[in-house]
Amino acid sequence: MAGMTTRSCPCGLPEAYDQCCGRFHAGAAAAPTAEALMRSRYSAFVKGDVAYLLRTWHPRTRPARLDLDPGMRWTGLEILEATDGSAFHSKGTVTFRASFRGGSLHERSRFERVDGAWVYVDGEFLD
Ligand SMILES: [Zn+2]
Repeated sequence: MAGMTTRSCPCGLPEAYDQCCGRFHAGAAAAPTAEALMRSRYSAFVKGDVAYLLRTWHPRTRPARLDLDPGMRWTGLEILEATDGSAFHSKGTVTFRASFRGGSLHERSRFERVDGAWVYVDGEFLD
């Protein structure tokens, strides 16, 4: 890809996309932790993978449809804190900063397991 200096995953981990969030987007594996799901959802925003975003959204809070802003250019993800959300939990939160051209989003997201798979519930914006 023009201008890319690295083939690391959009989520910020050093692995290549196909070995990282790409496995989850393809349905070859499920994100094992709330943080991994958060990373994969950020990568899905980068890739414009609306189907993945919807199927990893809790049925209770999932929007009927999702229209991504085609002008949005995500530039990086920083995980600030993760609580619970491991293989031993059924709920978890991830606090992150997602940067885009012209600004950033600071959010604490809540995640739950549905049928064993981590899904996004909702989030609150932080300063
Ligand atoms: Zn990734």
